[in-house]
Amino acid sequence: MAERTVDRSHMQVSDEVAIQISKMNKWYGTFHVLRDIDLTVNQGERIVIAGPSGSGKSTLIRCINRLEEHQAGQIIVDGTELTSDLKNIDKVRSEVGMVFQHFNLFPHLTILENLTLAPIWVRKTPKKEAEEVAMHYLEKVKIPEQAHKFPGMLSGGQQQRVAIARSLCMKPRIMLFDEPTSALDPEMIKEVLDTMIELAEEGMTMLCVTHEMGFAQAVANRVIFMDQGQIVEQNNPHDFFNNPQSDRTKLFLSQIL
Ligand code: ADP
Ligand code: MG
Repeated sequence: MAERTVDRSHMQVSDEVAIQISKMNKWYGTFHVLRDIDLTVNQGERIVIAGPSGSGKSTLIRCINRLEEHQAGQIIVDGTELTSDLKNIDKVRSEVGMVFQHFNLFPHLTILENLTLAPIWVRKTPKKEAEEVAMHYLEKVKIPEQAHKFPGMLSGGQQQRVAIARSLCMKPRIMLFDEPTSALDPEMIKEVLDTMIELAEEGMTMLCVTHEMGFAQAVANRVIFMDQGQIVEQNNPHDFFNNPQSDRTKLFLSQIL
């Protein structure tokens, strides 16, 4: 496997807890989709979540910003427990950005309008300020020249970078990625991964569901393997890939590497 040469030595993980999940369980109807999930994520961690299709990866990260509701156990994000309290849900959502496989940009709005919509209407940021922030992040993802185009005029990789910039405009403390490169043509995957690598280097706390194991090796400080709704194994990337412990992890790695 081609290993990216990223120097991880400066990517510090703090002692401060960002996300604390304990004994968390979730059902879809009678289907027990997440079982006794225990997971503590510190600020600055870059976690890759791997596992076969249907193992509950998306459900887990969707629970972290309450796009899905858990039924038992506890999820605490930045000190706020996720319950049905709408105030808490709003607070957590304002701190947690999410990027999906499909970019979910509004097709009838320009890139700049996509980026300023939530800051103006949800955060009540003055338009001019919202546009300045949006341009800052478009420069960061290296497509400021696309600001006045519509999403359909951009490539998939560019649209995904817009989606990342849109999240960043809300100044999140944690970013969740759910297979952000899975819908992209191969030649566009790198530009999105490079954007994610930059975010990691700036200290963003990140949870990434991805099949990009080169990214995991280069950027993650921890790889989590899920199967059938459980965290089966977790380790630093070197040991995860070179010395997997469980048979399920070994089987999974033999299929994807
Ligand atoms: P992954 O992201 O690892 O592929 P998911 O979290 O999407 O897995 O799904 C885990 C399991 O839950 C799968 O069996 C899936 O079919 C099921 N599932 C996902 N979403 C729903 C839903 N809204 N209602 C019922 N079952 C669901
Ligand atoms: Mg999924």
